[in-house]
Amino acid sequence: MKTLLILTALASLLINCGASTTASREFAISLPSARIESREMPTQREVLEKTKVVVLGTGTPIPDASRAGSSIAVIHKGNAYLFDVGAGAVRQATIARYLYDIPSLYPSQICCVFLSHLHSDHTLDLSELAHTLWWRRSNPLLAWGPEGISRISKAITDMIAIDADFRINGLQPVANSEGFKISDKTIEPGIILQQDGLSVEAFLANHGDISPAYGFKIVTDELSIVISGDTAYSDLIAEKSEDVDLLFHEVISRSGLKRNSPAFQRYHNSVHTTSDELARLATLARPKKLILYHGLFYGTEEAAVLDEIRALYDGEVILAKDLDVFSRE
Ligand SMILES: [Zn+2]
Ligand SMILES: [Zn+2]
Repeated sequence: MKTLLILTALASLLINCGASTTASREFAISLPSARIESREMPTQREVLEKTKVVVLGTGTPIPDASRAGSSIAVIHKGNAYLFDVGAGAVRQATIARYLYDIPSLYPSQICCVFLSHLHSDHTLDLSELAHTLWWRRSNPLLAWGPEGISRISKAITDMIAIDADFRINGLQPVANSEGFKISDKTIEPGIILQQDGLSVEAFLANHGDISPAYGFKIVTDELSIVISGDTAYSDLIAEKSEDVDLLFHEVISRSGLKRNSPAFQRYHNSVHTTSDELARLATLARPKKLILYHGLFYGTEEAAVLDEIRALYDGEVILAKDLDVFSRE
């Protein structure tokens, strides 16, 4: 039984790897186990590598066997910047660290996370991220989020206080007794980080009555990326996405939406972007690649959402899978 479970997991890894849109590499599956990693700074090799985007989680609040909660990692000059951190994202980061040899995705090496809004499917792994191997963190996790981020940060720091006390005041060697603390920052619209030639801009999204909710535009010397977060159709997102290399946008399938109760249809229409609305946005913005994530399908075939968009938009559209990787080709 145990063997079968492992084989199943390996098969799913191979399937996911095959989905990479930049390369059809075959991976030898021999991921190391329980390896402790620490480093003070990125290696020369990491600093020289091209900017990559690793999709850690493409899911929603609905449990999904093949999708972790929402999370997209931008890897630039040896640092990993996460945009949202839904349930399971940190586990995916560990897998991606070894599959793609990206040391900055080792959980205690991840420097930064940006939360688009404070719905649980975007935040549930924040504690996992901040507190996995915290006693070996070089620096506390930097976490940006809307108003309310400091309350969440304080709550999960309180949750880990007993663990911190055991480790700091017991026999265990602790490299960094401050490593469990989170350095939180409240987002205001505008440029919120500039580092090593990467800039992160936050702009208001339109998540109905969940406000504020932010989208992000990330620009490096070789790649421009917009991540919508959760949002209904937004002219501002269309404007920010004009001619970008990669537009990651949430979507709700028009045919799937019809399977909801009238109350939920009303709710989804006010907080999410339907496939036809997204086709309209992409027609205005003309991103080089439109990448769908955080898809709400409600039992319809996932591919149907692609058909719905392609019927109205002639640019490139990709339905992202967990562990897809994108970079400039
Ligand atoms: Zn969501
Ligand atoms: Zn949401």
